Amino acid sequence: MTDLSHIRLTGRPLIISDVDDVILEFIEPYERFLQSRGLKFVPRSFRLTGNIVRLEDETPVSEEDVRQSLHDFFEEQHIWQKPFEHVLTALPLLAEEADIVFLTAMPPKFTAARRLHLDALGLNFPMVAVETAKGPIASMIRAEQTAPVVFVDDMSHNLASVSEHIPDCLLLSLAPPSAVHAMGPKPPEAARIVRDWAEASPIIRTHFSGGFGA
Ligand SMILES: [Mg+2]
Repeated sequence: MTDLSHIRLTGRPLIISDVDDVILEFIEPYERFLQSRGLKFVPRSFRLTGNIVRLEDETPVSEEDVRQSLHDFFEEQHIWQKPFEHVLTALPLLAEEADIVFLTAMPPKFTAARRLHLDALGLNFPMVAVETAKGPIASMIRAEQTAPVVFVDDMSHNLASVSEHIPDCLLLSLAPPSAVHAMGPKPPEAARIVRDWAEASPIIRTHFSGGFGA
């Protein structure tokens, strides 16, 4: 059972945000990390397994090796994962009027490593790491609150999952311009596509004030 007891909402509007490739760069530094280990990610389809190959002969590594590479990457995330442009300015400003919770899809055993990294960047908002669907957890985080809620993620299945569990949630699809994201499934109809946090911020504020569009 995911522990949410450290999250204290204030009744203000709520922003639930993914971390990888939304707050911290993921795919670009992960590709550099793979290179440093004699591997390469070839974005032939929207998955890692089968598309991570050895540099010397381009043979794919096993699913277990892919999993291990991700784990090693998350262990060293403070070295590799930088925040996206605008994050360090946009989030503290949004936090003046909203509660922010990070909902990250990462093995929970790396929670402490990620916590330290985010804190060092001044992003000391509560964080939950899950490997299950995000919708049910987002709904539990919101609990009985009725203030407006926003969910930001780069993965269509996460946006769809939250849409199912929190029908009144503003969904923002925010992803870096990577080859692998371009191959992913399209975000659900209800989601608004934004380029970065500079574009997201005014849309979020309009939603908080009960307005439509931006
Ligand atoms: Mg992500």
